[in-house]
Amino acid sequence: MQASITIDVEHDCPPFLNTYRGITDGLPRLLAVLADNRVRATFFSTGDVARRYPDAVKRIVDDGHELGCHGDTHARFSTLDEKGARRELQDASESLRKFSDVRSFRAPNLDLPEVHLPLLAEYGYTLDSSWGRHKCGSYFIKPDVRFGIRRIPASISPLPMRAPSPIRRAVLALLEAPIVLFFHPWEFVDMSRTGIRLDCRIRTGEPALDLLEATIADLRRRSATLVPMRELQT
Ligand SMILES: [Zn+2]
Repeated sequence: MQASITIDVEHDCPPFLNTYRGITDGLPRLLAVLADNRVRATFFSTGDVARRYPDAVKRIVDDGHELGCHGDTHARFSTLDEKGARRELQDASESLRKFSDVRSFRAPNLDLPEVHLPLLAEYGYTLDSSWGRHKCGSYFIKPDVRFGIRRIPASISPLPMRAPSPIRRAVLALLEAPIVLFFHPWEFVDMSRTGIRLDCRIRTGEPALDLLEATIADLRRRSATLVPMRELQT
């Protein structure tokens, strides 16, 4: 069985904060945990982060991870017309492809109207993970191919992976291959005193890092091979 750890690299808890503590404080810790556990992941970054923190994005690539695209400014694609969607894809692709051959995409908020899907192919993307099994109301939707793009859903929202371990394990056991988990760098910073929405701050920081390590171990107990998304066989 294959599984992917994916990280959406963006400013902190969009749209609630405009800080980048996830990039400056969370990302180095996250990269250390992944290196310690010999996990290669997929990092979907905004173009904005790549321009502000080029050294952070370079380190992601140097550590052997896949760099993917998470839009340019974290605008929701459902709020964009074709021109706006093109601007996001153009600007993000230009900023991110300075670091790596970026071919995988995930829309902010897993929100990509089908009308924009052909644009992904036009801008050179071959894999899209902009939908979530938890968002479609079905945990049994399968990967498919549309407009020549492999669409592989995220398996579940990040929050259950920060739940107490009995719950986290029970949820994990229900997920079908390919398992695609997603996280954010800001989850690995203590957000407990930011006053934002509870699900954005509960068990953030060190507890989230410990839970990520436990999740990696649980996946391996299920004989999962952890690979970047581009290496998933669907
Ligand atoms: Zn995001």
